[in-house]
Amino acid sequence: MLSPDDINTIEKSIRKYNAKVIALQVPEGLKTEVQAIAGQIEKSGVNVIIFADPCFGACDIPCTQMAQYNCDLIVHIGHSEMFKKQSIPIAYIEYFSDTDVAGILKKEMTKLKNYKSIALATSIQHIKQIPKVSGILKSHQKKVLIGKSTISKYPGQVLGCDPSAVISIQDKADCILYFGTGRFHALGIAKKTDLPVFLLSLEDKKIHSLKKEQFILQKKKIIRKAKYDNAKVVCIVATTKPGQMNKNVVEIKKKIEKKGKRVFIAIMDVIKPESLLGMDYDIILNTACPRIEEDVVFKKPVINVEDVLE
Ligand code: SF4
Repeated sequence: MLSPDDINTIEKSIRKYNAKVIALQVPEGLKTEVQAIAGQIEKSGVNVIIFADPCFGACDIPCTQMAQYNCDLIVHIGHSEMFKKQSIPIAYIEYFSDTDVAGILKKEMTKLKNYKSIALATSIQHIKQIPKVSGILKSHQKKVLIGKSTISKYPGQVLGCDPSAVISIQDKADCILYFGTGRFHALGIAKKTDLPVFLLSLEDKKIHSLKKEQFILQKKKIIRKAKYDNAKVVCIVATTKPGQMNKNVVEIKKKIEKKGKRVFIAIMDVIKPESLLGMDYDIILNTACPRIEEDVVFKKPVINVEDVLE
């Protein structure tokens, strides 16, 4: 449910944009509450339309779709601001977890005993815990480094597609510590660095070294690149999701064609294997969320564009 502060933020936006019809988007984890949240917002005298498709992140705001329904404002819950300007105004309601990170860190501290300078990172949901986590590390005589990405709002905040908050300071660190749920963000960091990366998992409440995963990721990268080099027909996939769009697809196509490959571009909203049924190609070049390379199972190999054009 929304807090009084959240309601205030939304009401301010409603007044500012004189909004009458509001689009509401929540992450999957809050779907069971979405009707109640819509009810809370409607108390301000507006009508709410729930955008029910899965939300993949702040990159995935349905501006085009909701403009078709004459929405005046989108209320997006769960992520921090990614777009400064969009076709419909967006009110971001951040959602923070209060899971106890400090307790896990204290219990698992010995796993970091070999490292003096630690670069710290987390996702938006746990960002408020950075000072506490940082304090514990310092009380164990660690030097704590916190960087800032140009895309994300908070120092220390990383996205699966943007680990730059820690990568930008890796030269000064002995290791990287990411805390949060899931492995995607931590693996996104591991893919971009040779430093030891540790995941403090809020699921099993342990700190894990990602050394093995880092090795596997590097090997997979080499194998994918070899498959790409051998491919004759490349299918560039791109999405209409505003924060995942790569508007350079035509330029990318021309560049690859110069290397003697046949290339075609396939655009879709959600990138899924069914959309490519009936098409013939040797490899998929993914220009959307980097997660697709690992998470979506296609019949043909997938490689992220950054690994081809880096
Ligand atoms: S990692 Fe993927 S889902 Fe997350 S913000 Fe980046 S593009 Fe969006």
